[in-house]
Amino acid sequence: MSLAEDSPVHSSSSDDFAAILDAELDAASNSSGDSEEVAEEEESSEEDDDRSDYLELERVKRQKVELDPGIRNPQSSSSQGASSEIKVSLPEEEICPHPGFFAGMCMKCGLRVDDDSAVALKYIDKNLRLANDEMARLRDKDFKDLLCHRRKLYLVLDLDHTLLNSSRLIDIKEEESYLNSQRDALPDTLKTSLFRLDRMHMMTKLRPFVHTFLEEASKLFEMYIYTMGERPYALEMADLLDPGNKYFHSRIIAQGDCTQKYQKGLDIVLGRESAVLILDDTEAVWKENKENLILMDRYHFFASSCKNFGFSYKSHSQLKTDESETEGALATVLKVLQQVHSLFFDKERKDNLEDRDVRQVLKTVRKEVLKDCKIVFTRVIPINFTAEHHHLWRMAEQLGATCSTEIDPSVTHVVSGDAGTDKSRWAVRENKFLVNPGWIEASNFLWRKQPEEKFPVSPAKCKQ
Ligand SMILES: [Mg+2]
Ligand SMILES: [Zn+2]
Repeated sequence: MSLAEDSPVHSSSSDDFAAILDAELDAASNSSGDSEEVAEEEESSEEDDDRSDYLELERVKRQKVELDPGIRNPQSSSSQGASSEIKVSLPEEEICPHPGFFAGMCMKCGLRVDDDSAVALKYIDKNLRLANDEMARLRDKDFKDLLCHRRKLYLVLDLDHTLLNSSRLIDIKEEESYLNSQRDALPDTLKTSLFRLDRMHMMTKLRPFVHTFLEEASKLFEMYIYTMGERPYALEMADLLDPGNKYFHSRIIAQGDCTQKYQKGLDIVLGRESAVLILDDTEAVWKENKENLILMDRYHFFASSCKNFGFSYKSHSQLKTDESETEGALATVLKVLQQVHSLFFDKERKDNLEDRDVRQVLKTVRKEVLKDCKIVFTRVIPINFTAEHHHLWRMAEQLGATCSTEIDPSVTHVVSGDAGTDKSRWAVRENKFLVNPGWIEASNFLWRKQPEEKFPVSPAKCKQ
């Protein structure tokens, strides 16, 4: 593990940022609970040599910070209580840009400044806000280091239904009561993946393959957890997923950190958008960052989870089954991530690494799934609905298919909600594939054209 990977505070070694924050944390009161988190992380560093190098580096940088005449200790400057004095003492070209604020005070000049546009990074420290310019500067720096030196991209991971499934204990049904057994009495596959968290009155099942997924993905990506759950829940889940604290460090973003209600956003992630991929089962929360999103097939282990989403079928827990370890969603998406990563860093590419955009690469990979397919829909898109705007039409196009409203000899697939329509019968007569809409969705989730015979169209309902 490299020095950069072990760098505390958070990421990918925003070294100067770490230094600023570190210095500020020292200067400010040490009573904040969140700053303890940072300290713990420093202690958890695995390699002592790297650690002492790092400390040395930080010490030198801090001396630099202290020696810089433009930088004042927030406490001493506020005790002087003289903002005008500072202005006078600074030559005009050195007017402080107020890059960041700790408990309302500028980290650089120590002034109290109301900058409403500054971004709160509560998940790093509850008192920390950074100005937009500073966010951009740190992103650029982090991006260069991550891409050029560590050849990694960023990966933002949702928790519920993506990496795991949780249920309240009171929602556990009779048929699932075997889950309450002592660990030794549980089926083997559950011994290491099912957790009863009495303190939180809930039970959590990790998605099959999740440990391998995290291990492999961490070689290619710097990873964040980003959940709409609350912080205590997020931390508890991070503990189950990453007991050695190898993958996430403090990169755990919870509901209270979001800048918009009911929305997640990359605005608080210290990674440039052109280098971030997101895995989430909920598209609607990523309005601003759809192009970065890989939509996940939802993992429902518990009966309550199926019920909450309106499904009447039995859950894995009721049937005593589980998603496939080797062909399930996480194994599938890992292959996609590996492919995207290798195309992004492809040595044959002539363009500058920094100019590349992972969203473009993702598009290219996606377009391979249904390339060479020409699709006509029947009884799928409501009459009076603009076909091109329908989500299945758009999905098929993103997967590389061509969509059409008219049949012609070049059509390969008729996607149908009813076997009795003219177009459905035409497909049968002309030996074209006749499939139900699930074929497109499954191909989308599995990143591969699915066998058509698995998606038959139910017998005619239509009387013509
Ligand atoms: Mg989710
Ligand atoms: Zn300032």
